[in-house]
Amino acid sequence: MNVIWIAPPAAGKGTYSSLLKEKYGFSHISAGDVLREEIAKGSAIGKEIESIVSSGKMVDDTLLKQLIENKLRSIDLSKPFMLDGYPRRLNQAIDYEDILNRLGIEKPIVIFINIDKETGLNRILGRVNCPNCKRNYNLTSGYAKPKVDGICDDCKTPLEHRSDDNKESYENRYNTYFNETTELINKYKDEGSLIEIDGSKSPEENFGIITKILGVNND
Ligand SMILES: [Zn+2]
Repeated sequence: MNVIWIAPPAAGKGTYSSLLKEKYGFSHISAGDVLREEIAKGSAIGKEIESIVSSGKMVDDTLLKQLIENKLRSIDLSKPFMLDGYPRRLNQAIDYEDILNRLGIEKPIVIFINIDKETGLNRILGRVNCPNCKRNYNLTSGYAKPKVDGICDDCKTPLEHRSDDNKESYENRYNTYFNETTELINKYKDEGSLIEIDGSKSPEENFGIITKILGVNND
C-alpha cells in the first residue's frame, strides 16, 4: 500500500504521518529528506542538488524521479509507505505512475486534507516541532500535544517554534501550495481517486477516518 498526501501547510499531515509510522509501521519517504540525504553523501549528484537548492531553484523532475525511485528500491516495499512532498505537480504524478509500474506496486491512495486558510493559520500559531527527529506537535490540540510540556516524546529534545510560522509566511506558503498542486488535485479528482477529508476536524477524528480509509483500523 502506498499513500500520497496532498495537504496544504498546517492541514495535519505531519501528525498523521508520525502516527501511521509509529502505530502501523508505515515507512515515511519525504522528498526533502531524499534530497538532503543525497547532499549529505557528497556524491556528484548531491553536489549538483546542493548548488540548485542553494540558488533557490527547483530540482528538475527527471532527477527527482530517479532519486525517488532509488529511495523506494532501498526500502522494504512489502510494508506500507507514504510519500511526503512528492508528487507535487502533474508531471511528477505521471513520473510517479511510471515508477510504480516499474516496481510493480499498485496505484497510490491519494488523501487530500483540505483546510481553509483561516483555520490553518490559527493552527500554525500553536505549532512546534522537534529540531532533532522532526516530529511535529501542536499545543492547541490534545492529540498532538507533547506528553511533557516543550519536550519531544521520542527523543526528549526541547521543542521549537518554526521560525516561518507567522501570518505572512503562512499565507504565502498556503497560496503557493494551491498554485502548485491544483493540476494534481484535478487529475486525481477526474480519475475518481482523490479522497478528500476535512482538515478542520480534530486530529483525533481525522486519524480515525484515515486509518479506516487505509484499512488499518478494525475498531
Ligand atoms: Zn524528537
